[in-house]
Amino acid sequence: MHKLNIGQRIGSLDWLFPRRCAMCDEILGREERGCCRDCYLKLSFIEQPFCYCCGKPLEQEEKEYCMDCSKARRSFVANRSLLLYDERTELSIARFKFQNRREYAKFYGKELSDRYKSQILSWQPDVLLPVPIHPNKYRKRGYNQAGLIAQELSAHLGIPVLTDILMRRVETAAQKELNPVERLENLERAFQICENSVKLDKVILVDDIYTTGATLEACSRVLLSYGVQRVYGVTVAAGQGY
Ligand SMILES: [Zn+2]
Ligand SMILES: [Zn+2]
Repeated sequence: MHKLNIGQRIGSLDWLFPRRCAMCDEILGREERGCCRDCYLKLSFIEQPFCYCCGKPLEQEEKEYCMDCSKARRSFVANRSLLLYDERTELSIARFKFQNRREYAKFYGKELSDRYKSQILSWQPDVLLPVPIHPNKYRKRGYNQAGLIAQELSAHLGIPVLTDILMRRVETAAQKELNPVERLENLERAFQICENSVKLDKVILVDDIYTTGATLEACSRVLLSYGVQRVYGVTVAAGQGY
């Protein structure tokens, strides 16, 4: 019997489930990986100068920190993001999260690794911790998008992923009427550490989007109070800094 090699097998599956561009969702050409050529040229990678702490792009080169990071002390040491959260990135992440385009994680993970591998390894993290979603949301969606990104990063960097340390116990939807301090406190209460968790020294939180940094801050506070020494973050997209 003629045996198919792995490449051929994947090729045959492509016919049934064609691989799609992580940005425009069009079917990829044979030579294309993760993202089509046109989209790749238009990707809004976050370049220097960016905030030394949160990783958001800065307008002024002479600054080291964005306005938010200059004003408030962060509980995390640093965050790095791959793409600017522009219209294209927003669409990509929306499909990834809400339209079951789990395969996009491969592209995000590879690009994050290509760009930040040495930076991330220099942090010497024990583990990658995906920012958790509430169990109800997980049941509905079938996956945690942050978990998929963490798995891909893990494959490239050789850092294990732990999903049973940090849990989300409250769904935080109605936050609009709260001021930023209340919002953060509310968010902090939403996360908890599982009992009997192993002790960790340095961890990297993985998430899809960094906007105000409130989620990363809330998770970091919970982790620090539990004895973690240093918390870092890696996200696919980030909003514009100041
Ligand atoms: Zn494309
Ligand atoms: Zn910043």
